[in-house]
Amino acid sequence: MKVVIVTGAAGGLGAAMVRSLARLDFQVFLLDIDQEKIDEAVASCRTKNVAGFICDVTEEKRVEEIFSKIYRCYNRIDVLINNAGLQYVSPVESFPTAKFRYMLEVMLTAPFIATKHVLPYMKQNHFGRIINMASINGLVGFSGKAAYNSAKHGLIGLTKVTALETAAFGITVNAVCPGYVDTDLVRNQLSAIAASRGIDPEKVLAEIIYPLVPQKRLLQPEEVANMVLYLIDELSGGITGQAMVIDGGYTAQ
Ligand code: NAD
Repeated sequence: MKVVIVTGAAGGLGAAMVRSLARLDFQVFLLDIDQEKIDEAVASCRTKNVAGFICDVTEEKRVEEIFSKIYRCYNRIDVLINNAGLQYVSPVESFPTAKFRYMLEVMLTAPFIATKHVLPYMKQNHFGRIINMASINGLVGFSGKAAYNSAKHGLIGLTKVTALETAAFGITVNAVCPGYVDTDLVRNQLSAIAASRGIDPEKVLAEIIYPLVPQKRLLQPEEVANMVLYLIDELSGGITGQAMVIDGGYTAQ
C-alpha cells in the first residue's frame, strides 16, 4: 500500500484529495494546524487508512520528525503533496511585510523543507511523486496578491529544479495550477470583496469573477483531486517538471 502525505489537508482542496486517496489503496497522512478540522477530515473518510498529525509546515524539526516516524513504520513514503496555503489581499504599498514573509514561508519555504526531507526516503525506494499545489497565480499576475503570486511563481521554479535533480531516481515533481476552486480560501475572498462593496457574495461571483472565467463557474475540489490522482499514478512517470493547469479556461484567453 502506497504512503501519501498531504499538507494543509484538514479542509478545502487538501481534504478532497484525502477523501479521493482514501477510497483507493493508499495509506494517507494529513498534516495541518487545525486539530478540530483534522479530526473531522479523518472521520469523514470512514477508513483506518487515514491519520492526521498536527503540524505547522513551517516548523522544519516537526516536519522531519513526522516523516521519520512514518518511514520507520511503513518503510516507504511514496507521495508528498505540498498543499498548505493561505491568502491575503492588499496593494503592495500597504501589504504588511511580516504577512508577506509568512506567506512565502508557508507556500514556498515549507514545500522546500518537506521536499528536502522526503527525497532521501523516496530515493531509497527508487520511486516518488511530489505534487506542489501552485495556482494560475503562479503563471499570471493578479493585482493585490503580491505574496500569493510571488510564492506560487516561486513554487513552480522549485518544482522544475527538483524535477531535474530527481529525474534519474524514479521520482517525478509537478505543480498543479488550479483557477478558482470552491473552498474557504476563495469564499473568504468573495465575502471580503462583497463587504467592501456592500453587495452579496453571489453578486461578486456573477459580476466580478465569472466574467473572467470562460466556463463561468467555480471548480469543485474533487476535480483538482482527480488531476492529482492522475499525476501520482505509476503510468504518469514521464510527466515531470510541469505546471499542469485546471482553470475552466482562464489562462486560455
Ligand atoms: P483552504 O483555506 O480551504 O485550506 C488550506 C489549509 O491549509 C487549511 O486547512 C489550513 O489550516 C492549512 N494551513 C495553513 N497554514 C498552514 C501551516 N502553516 N501548516 C499546516 N497547514 C496549514 O484553502 P484551499 O483552497 O483548500 O487551498 C489549498 C491549496 O490550494 C493552497 O496552497 C492554495 O494556494 C491552493 N489553491 C487554491 C485555489 C482555490 O481557488 N481555492 C486555487 C489555486 C490554488
